[in-house]
Amino acid sequence: MRVVGLSAEDDFEGWRDAARALAAARVPPSEIVWQVGDQPVDLFGDEAVPQSTAHPFRVPRAFLDLAQAVILHSDPQRFALLYTLLAGLIEQPKRIEDRADPLVRRLEEKAKAVHRDIHKMRAFVRFREIEDDSGARYVAWFEPEHHIVRANARFFADRFANMRWSILTPELSIHWDGAALAEGPGATKAEAPAGDPIEDVWKTYYASIFNPARLKTGAMLKEMPRKYWKNMPETALVKELVAGARQRETAMVQTARTAMGGNIAGAWEKLRDEAMGCTRCHLYRHASQTVFGEGPVDARMMFVGEQPGDQEDLAGHPFVGPAGQMFNRAIAEAGIERAGVYVTNAVKHFKFEQRGKRRIHSKPDAGEISACRWWYEQERLLIRPEMTVALGATAARQILGKAATITAMRGRALELAEGGLGWVTIHPSFLLRMPDRERAAEEYAMFVEDLKGAAKTLSS
Ligand code: SF4
Repeated sequence: MRVVGLSAEDDFEGWRDAARALAAARVPPSEIVWQVGDQPVDLFGDEAVPQSTAHPFRVPRAFLDLAQAVILHSDPQRFALLYTLLAGLIEQPKRIEDRADPLVRRLEEKAKAVHRDIHKMRAFVRFREIEDDSGARYVAWFEPEHHIVRANARFFADRFANMRWSILTPELSIHWDGAALAEGPGATKAEAPAGDPIEDVWKTYYASIFNPARLKTGAMLKEMPRKYWKNMPETALVKELVAGARQRETAMVQTARTAMGGNIAGAWEKLRDEAMGCTRCHLYRHASQTVFGEGPVDARMMFVGEQPGDQEDLAGHPFVGPAGQMFNRAIAEAGIERAGVYVTNAVKHFKFEQRGKRRIHSKPDAGEISACRWWYEQERLLIRPEMTVALGATAARQILGKAATITAMRGRALELAEGGLGWVTIHPSFLLRMPDRERAAEEYAMFVEDLKGAAKTLSS
């Protein structure tokens, strides 16, 4: 029996190096015991991890990505499960792509749970202010489900670079002094301050960004489990905020814009830069780049398409492909100045199927639309359009927050939950796909009429 000692629960490098050597020596999974920390290591024998790499092998990059996440899971079996898959990949490298493989599925579920926990920590850590010899220090308590604290530390160092802070968790504590990260032992909740000056800051912040139109209790409970509520000062506000929901809409947007110091163009650039690194859904993996919206930040009209196409993906600009050219022609005929409107897409990465050398457009699904809604909402918050025109069903779903039928919705003003008016029409690519040119001409005329209707409603 080989006993491998790992230095910590999240010791990916230790596991990787040992697993690589063991797999190269073709040691079967059943002959390895994985242990963490100071546990006794002599219960099962004392054969050392082999140093030889007599049978070198390569593993797919996807396996390493999976392993890096799964190592952070709290399941004690994770090291052995990963090694079992690694040993299997030596014979069958394609196994990692087999979504029906029970072991691959099981490990992917674990990776997802880890990613969810990382997201929860980022979303729900709340600092309390205390005073120490050097002045203000911010301390937060968090109880993760998995071993994610060390992996998340850099995120907080970047986000709160100008504060001195500590995050206490049962497993370990992370400290930032404004220049470097340091680790300390785990803590108990009783060691975390219960004070509240910064709660006021959070409450003010939360009240300013609270969006009553998006309040869905089921979704909120899912994303914000009750376990975390006690750490979050803003939860006390929810009842009060819901009560005054509608009246708060205008003030909410105004507050957010004021908080940006009136520099909407600067805030928009920052937002676009952030979107360039977005990994909220898997679509970023194969597309060339994020294609963010474009246009004046004080535009009164916003047009929302489905997603960038092949040409937009390569150019990095929306509405520049064949459908975009048809759109330009149609809005010109409708008397709308192209340079005065903001154009964006419901989904900001190109989704496609590779067929030979061709990349064939593939429709985004509800999960991808929902993941990308965050960017659309941020754009709306900044641009604050009086009229938002959805081009096609995907865009309609994004602006309305639910599935919509074009024929039932088109050609009339709709009140949007976030404020402003909405208008639904077809996507110009629909016209390009129509084989019957006569029918296409009729549809094009109706499209122009829809656009005229939206412009007229805006000016009335
Ligand atoms: Fe992010 Fe949207 Fe791209 Fe998904 S499609 S990765 S949510 S920008």
